[in-house]
Amino acid sequence: MKSNCPNPYCVLPHPRSPKIKSIVRNGTVFRKSDSRYIQRYYCRVCGSFFSKATFDPRFGQNKRRVNAAIDRYLCSGVSQRRAAKLLNINPKTVAAKLRFLATEARAEMNKDLKVFNKNKLNNIQFDDLETSEHTKCKPLSVSLAVAPKSWKILGFAVAQMPAKGHLVKIAKRKYPYRPDHRNRSWAELLHGLSRYVKPTATFLSDENLHYPKFVKHYFPDAKHETTPGGRGAIVGQGELKKLRFDPLFSLNHTCAMLRANMNRLFRKT
Ligand SMILES: [Zn+2]
Repeated sequence: MKSNCPNPYCVLPHPRSPKIKSIVRNGTVFRKSDSRYIQRYYCRVCGSFFSKATFDPRFGQNKRRVNAAIDRYLCSGVSQRRAAKLLNINPKTVAAKLRFLATEARAEMNKDLKVFNKNKLNNIQFDDLETSEHTKCKPLSVSLAVAPKSWKILGFAVAQMPAKGHLVKIAKRKYPYRPDHRNRSWAELLHGLSRYVKPTATFLSDENLHYPKFVKHYFPDAKHETTPGGRGAIVGQGELKKLRFDPLFSLNHTCAMLRANMNRLFRKT
């Protein structure tokens, strides 16, 4: 039996002798949320009851049956409200599951990226994807770093930024001052990359004026190459421009996939 007593004040192992079996099986509990019988345990030292489920990250979830479906839906362009409708559950449950699934996905991603701890990467592509809160007057910037060969997302950070272009005037009239937090997110992203990237790696990005100083600060020995971003050949092409050979293709394609498969990132205009 792997379970340990969850009581923080418990004095396990047994005070008389460590050989005494302190944790014993004690019947089962029926879990309604997935119709399963769960082994229950009793601690003979402190007298507390617990079960196998006590240590599960899904502990206390009443709608665990829909976890997998929500995971699929939210990664397939279904909105949170529509997912709630399809699964006949409350939208607030979907929102809560999104957070839960995000922590699981994050852990999985970190586990996935462990391969780069040993063989650190030589090439990195990074750029920003722009999206917005409920209105384009409140834009958000998602900074993203991708490994070009394996197409793995190495890190990302979200930051709010002020409105651009003709929206500046409208935003000023309608909404309070919106500070620019992109510096913080770029710093966060590049700092996080040091685990997977060689200090002498080559960074490829577009010609954003802010990038060089961050690369220089976090990777003083790295090489930073830039490539012109270019405008879409047709209005609304977004990330994937069919203009010419795109050196940032793995990154742009990753961004395009995010945009196509996550409802919140869809372009509305
Ligand atoms: Zn105990």
